[in-house]
Amino acid sequence: MVTRSALIYLSRQEGLKEFATRFRPFKKITTRFVAGETIDEAIASIRQINAEGATASFDHLNESVSSASEAEKEVRQYLRILARIDETGIRSNVSIKLTQFGLDLDPELAYKNARRIVEDSARRGNFVRVDMEGSSVTQATLDIFKRLRGEFGLNDVGIVLQSYLRRTYDDAKELLKLPARIRICKGAYMEPPEVAFPDKKDVDDNYIRVMQLLLSSGIYHGVATHDPKMISATIDFVQKQGIGKDAFEFQMLYGIRRDLQRQLARDGYNLRIYVPYGKHWYPYFMRRLAERPANIWFVMKNMLKG
Ligand SMILES: Cc1cc2nc3c(=O)[nH]c(=O)nc-3n(C[C@H](O)[C@H](O)[C@H](O)COP(=O)(O)OP(=O)(O)OC[C@H]3O[C@@H](n4cnc5c(N)ncnc54)[C@H](O)[C@@H]3O)c2cc1C
Repeated sequence: MVTRSALIYLSRQEGLKEFATRFRPFKKITTRFVAGETIDEAIASIRQINAEGATASFDHLNESVSSASEAEKEVRQYLRILARIDETGIRSNVSIKLTQFGLDLDPELAYKNARRIVEDSARRGNFVRVDMEGSSVTQATLDIFKRLRGEFGLNDVGIVLQSYLRRTYDDAKELLKLPARIRICKGAYMEPPEVAFPDKKDVDDNYIRVMQLLLSSGIYHGVATHDPKMISATIDFVQKQGIGKDAFEFQMLYGIRRDLQRQLARDGYNLRIYVPYGKHWYPYFMRRLAERPANIWFVMKNMLKG
């Protein structure tokens, strides 16, 4: 737990970010979790993922931009991604973070920027997933999502909920009334006990409760996890309820538990891989280390190898 807090703290340190992104050996190791720095590298990874029977979700790494012009660059990057998905015929949707479009600066700007992406994506018949970030922006993210969902269809835009948050079960019930397509995940940020369950067992129990609520709704949702216990609980539940394999999808992160990824695809489950790419990989990479401190040994071993 201490290691996790420390790594999440480090993920927010600008000075370290500067250092790490310039330090070559460190950069090399990130390829385990990040699909490269350019769209073309991400497309090559997605082709491979598609060939192995899974779909993908593009994530351009760059959270918490600090100016409207930076947010504008992000919008253009996503419009390019959507165009390239069409040109190349890869099977992928996109995931966006609202802080990337200016949420910390001005929620109205973030809404307008996100709207441009959803509009372009809907015109192309694609789908935009709004990622969920730290609890300081949960409500603002849900508010913007609800506005977008009011203007676009169920299959145009979806949202993410995190089972570590105490509010999530109620949020899921509310969102299902819209209705909305939801990705359930455990949550990757450091949160205080007032808003998030401090014990893993409670996070897991809540995950299963929310997963069951979602999968009973008849709407196509995403079950995002690498946890074999959450995966078995999902498979048991759908089998008992007679819910078809094509009624939902499992989702996993690029490079994590590839053994499980292959297994699920082989067993005929829909599987989507979240594919992050871009120069600003540092906070994302540090959160992946925080989830599994054993990954630090992987990093150190590879750094020593040079
Ligand atoms: C597709 C997808 C989208 C996501 N989107 C969001 C989002 O929008 N907002 C958000 O807050 N979080 C998001 N997350 C991250 C998520 O919240 C968790 O932090 C992350 O998935 C780890 O939780 P877990 O369910 O895998 O279970 P855990 O209990 O953390 O891990 C279970 C097992 O999975 C494996 N594992 C997990 N993480 C790692 C790792 N980093 N390296 C190696 N092995 C690992 C290990 O075998 C571990 O024992 C997303 C995750 C996925 C898969």
